[in-house]
Amino acid sequence: MTMTSETAETSLDSQQIKHYPLFIGGQWVDSDERYTIIDPATGELVATAAKGNREHADAAVKAAKESFESGVWKNQSPAQRADVLERFASAWEARIDELSVLTTKESGIPVRLGAVFGVYSPVADTRQFAADLRRFEWERPGPVLEPMLAVGILRREPIGVCLGIVPWNTPTALAIWKAIPALAAGNSVVLKVDEKTPVTGLELAKALSDAGLPDGVFNVVTGEGRDVGSYLTEHKDVSHVSFTGSTATGRTVMAAAAARLKPVVLELGGKGPNIILEDADLDAAVDGSIWAFMMHSGQACESGTRLLLPESIHDEFVSRLIARVKTMRLGDTLDPLTDVGPLVSDHQRKRVLAYIESGKADGARVVIGGGVPEGEQFANGYYVEPTIFVDATNDMKIAREEIFGPVLTVIKYDSLEQAIEIANDTEYGLSAGIWSEDIEKALAVARQIEAGSIWINDFHCATSKYPFGGYKQSGVGRELGSSAMNDYTEEKTILLSVSTQGSRLAKYGLVLGTPRDAS
Ligand code: NAD
Repeated sequence: MTMTSETAETSLDSQQIKHYPLFIGGQWVDSDERYTIIDPATGELVATAAKGNREHADAAVKAAKESFESGVWKNQSPAQRADVLERFASAWEARIDELSVLTTKESGIPVRLGAVFGVYSPVADTRQFAADLRRFEWERPGPVLEPMLAVGILRREPIGVCLGIVPWNTPTALAIWKAIPALAAGNSVVLKVDEKTPVTGLELAKALSDAGLPDGVFNVVTGEGRDVGSYLTEHKDVSHVSFTGSTATGRTVMAAAAARLKPVVLELGGKGPNIILEDADLDAAVDGSIWAFMMHSGQACESGTRLLLPESIHDEFVSRLIARVKTMRLGDTLDPLTDVGPLVSDHQRKRVLAYIESGKADGARVVIGGGVPEGEQFANGYYVEPTIFVDATNDMKIAREEIFGPVLTVIKYDSLEQAIEIANDTEYGLSAGIWSEDIEKALAVARQIEAGSIWINDFHCATSKYPFGGYKQSGVGRELGSSAMNDYTEEKTILLSVSTQGSRLAKYGLVLGTPRDAS
């Protein structure tokens, strides 16, 4: 492990390709091995990043633990901590052009959305968490146990070293969801970024440091998930684990954390139903259905990938979807008018294409898309055409498994009861959409859907003002919301005997042995 004076600003070669070392204890730390970060739209080299190993992971946890125990951050007042977070948010926002492009080049998300997930949403969420921190109740009186006998004080304290593990799809936004409430609560953080998208996480470390976060409080490591990630989840000095990724990995993370009884928050996969009621505003519902399954080419866990349509409007709705897909612009992710970018990797593209083949084999019918777009501009990227399946049933693989690509499975329903049954017939429970002009009816449906977030006449609206997380195999616990900081604190009860009429022990006959004055 080598400390280095090279920073993210250092250009290491003549092509001005930046190299990103890891960020540990307030310093850039390099490694003998490197990742090459490829733009999934073009196949071009975006940057290189140090490939972390277990030694780096240990150093990051050590730096986090030392900074926590020194009190350098947790002993600052909530107002001082909120000031640092707000300074970071303003500095991040000021770099909107640069960071939107970096987000796009790293993850393949079209730049219009790169701005949203790389900058606008992280900035708004950070400001919200800072506001929550300013009014957070660190101590409050508990109920009086009996007049004049005892009263409690309920106190919240930071936990220690919090580990955040994030995937590649919206790396900055997800890192913010984990790191900022943990930091707001006074903890120190180790962030394990994804192998494919480490760049914005490392930029985040530098920006938080520049905003005044003391050294060692926020550390970013890269490395292979099965090696560095799993090592960190088992680490004896990590006190809390928050993970976003696949359900399969989530199970591994939970089992590893269980060995040391660490609390976990898991945000995992989804197979969101998007239910169109007969009375829906069809124009709005078409907009929403496209947005639900096509945002970031379907690479979002909360995507609406099962479209439930009543028989009566099925054919018209599908025709409108096809017409709309034909107008969507695929291609240059740096063009603000582009709607659809590539998948993150060739591996992911092959996986999605295999799902499309399985849908065909199971008897569903492709009405648009189904392959790789042709043309020079797609030659070096990992594009898949927006794809819609009809004649599908809920028992097909394309209706049961998370595809994480631009694939919509349309399923017909006969009655609202049947729609609700199909919607809930899944191992997942992260999200659902309901489209109707009858709000009472839509609310009645929403109350019966087993999912953590339900959007009526909307989709993908995850905000720091409301909790987000899954039922069933979609996760454990919640992120965001005004109580997000609670997850990153321990609750302590201090019970204070205030008796003026003899001790509580005497009153209840709890004095054991012979009191001195009675002998
Ligand atoms: P993944 O679970 O393989 O990886 C996610 C992260 O976990 C990466 O940083 C990876 O390095 C790390 N990791 C891998 N194995 C690990 C292990 N054994 N221990 C600790 N860390 C480990 O997921 P992926 O394929 O990179 O991402 C796609 C999946 O993530 C999708 O299937 C989707 O369901 C899920 N996802 C969920 C959400 C959500 O909020 N619920 C958001 C984005 C993605």
